[in-house]
Amino acid sequence: MVEMNLNRRQFLKLSGAAAATLAIVELGFDEKNVYAKTKEFKIAKTKVTPTICCYCGVGCGILVHTKNNTVVYTEGDPDNPINEGKLCSKGTTIRQLYTSKKRLTKPLYRAPGSKKWEEKDWEWMLDTIAKRVKETRDASFIEKEEGITVNKTEKIASLGGAALDNEETYLLAKLMRGLGVVYLEHQARI
Ligand code: SF4
Repeated sequence: MVEMNLNRRQFLKLSGAAAATLAIVELGFDEKNVYAKTKEFKIAKTKVTPTICCYCGVGCGILVHTKNNTVVYTEGDPDNPINEGKLCSKGTTIRQLYTSKKRLTKPLYRAPGSKKWEEKDWEWMLDTIAKRVKETRDASFIEKEEGITVNKTEKIASLGGAALDNEETYLLAKLMRGLGVVYLEHQARI
């Protein structure tokens, strides 16, 4: 009998190798089965939430896999008619939006003429935006033009992004029309 003295690291390595060998034997060395099984392990017991890629106006469908309150994997949604499971290089790396150390988690504000960004809380930011929109709209509102009622402002413009879904875009358009904004643009054109 051969006696073996293993430390913890060696033991884990050996167990991993044994498990991998058993898995290969069980799968019968079929390369396709091995790939399929690996994917299954990676996303086993995750919660899947469908979403839309926020990067561009194509609007590809993405499945987000979460486990223990964290995003563990993202992939193209095969049921989405736009991308049928495929993603471009940006969409493929979308998990980094959540995991990146560079991710912004607080609003940043740069005062007019300043070169510095300051951290602000949401309350200050939303109040300030609302106040400035109101001031600008009131100061630039045009009721009539050549005798015709126009009720508009030309000093505010609205730009929508691909991260906005249908309902958000509808509400944004309603709000802007209500304010009299006539310059409305949106990135997504689908
Ligand atoms: S996956 Fe690529 S092409 Fe599709 S919406 Fe995202 S950025 Fe656009």
